[in-house]
Amino acid sequence: MKSIFRILAVGLTAVFGAAFWLAAEAYAASPEGMRLYVFSSGHLTLDKSSLQTGATGKVTVPVAFFLIKHPKGNVLFDTGNNDKVITDPTYWGPLAQMLGPDSKSTDIAIDAQLAKAGVKPSDINYVVLGHMHLDHAGNVGKFPGATIVYQRDEIVNAFWPKPGYGCCYITADFANLRNDVGANQVNRQKVIELNGDLDLFGDGSIYIHRAVSHTPGSEMVVVRLPKSGPVVLTSDVCYLMDNLQKDLLPSVSLAYDPAGMLDAYQWIKHLMSAEDADVIFAHDEETFKKHKHSPEFYE
Ligand SMILES: [Zn+2]
Repeated sequence: MKSIFRILAVGLTAVFGAAFWLAAEAYAASPEGMRLYVFSSGHLTLDKSSLQTGATGKVTVPVAFFLIKHPKGNVLFDTGNNDKVITDPTYWGPLAQMLGPDSKSTDIAIDAQLAKAGVKPSDINYVVLGHMHLDHAGNVGKFPGATIVYQRDEIVNAFWPKPGYGCCYITADFANLRNDVGANQVNRQKVIELNGDLDLFGDGSIYIHRAVSHTPGSEMVVVRLPKSGPVVLTSDVCYLMDNLQKDLLPSVSLAYDPAGMLDAYQWIKHLMSAEDADVIFAHDEETFKKHKHSPEFYE
């Protein structure tokens, strides 16, 4: 009897060992030609206490979004501020005053940013939304031909937020995703509505991770590049490197699930130590400055 268990144990080890080995190989095999581009929709100037409880004064931050070129498709992570804000900040209503977007240059328009990487909006195959606030889903309407990837909880909250968590959604930014009344399908275009994680191309190179934290349906992406290695793109799951290092939370209205946010910080820190991952936040000026910006890229 004992020997049967031993045989079973050896067999299971062989199977799971092989599975682990295959996973490691797949990671090492992130495809040649993958590239990561870093963009910004300009800057916002706001009270630092909104990003970090207890902080004082104002802070000026970038509005980062990203393009990943992969042999199986061009993937955008977040879409920055709606371009309308460049010429008409009142599109944001009272939030324009609160967030102080710099609206000086059409160079921050998403078409102009993507052109630096040699792509047009129609070349984008997937748009992954870290969440749907105005500085992340602003330009999602410019990609009617792409598959939009988001957490179902996020779009529900974006259209009908819970009390206290309605700040920063501009319904006009994403209303076009929704089909006309009476249509059989709820969505006007192709979407992937998630309630969890997704390995986008099945090769570990673009891994979407659900993190109920900043908003009900926030998600991060780990991009595993063949030469530079892993990079965690946080969207607003974590605002600043200082927040990450000291476990500091933003203001209440920007921390839907504080415990989930601290869990997400731990997840990021684990990847930084276990995989030597780099991290790029949407709104940390110092980290942003240290990275290459489009047309330069990581591969
Ligand atoms: Zn943001």
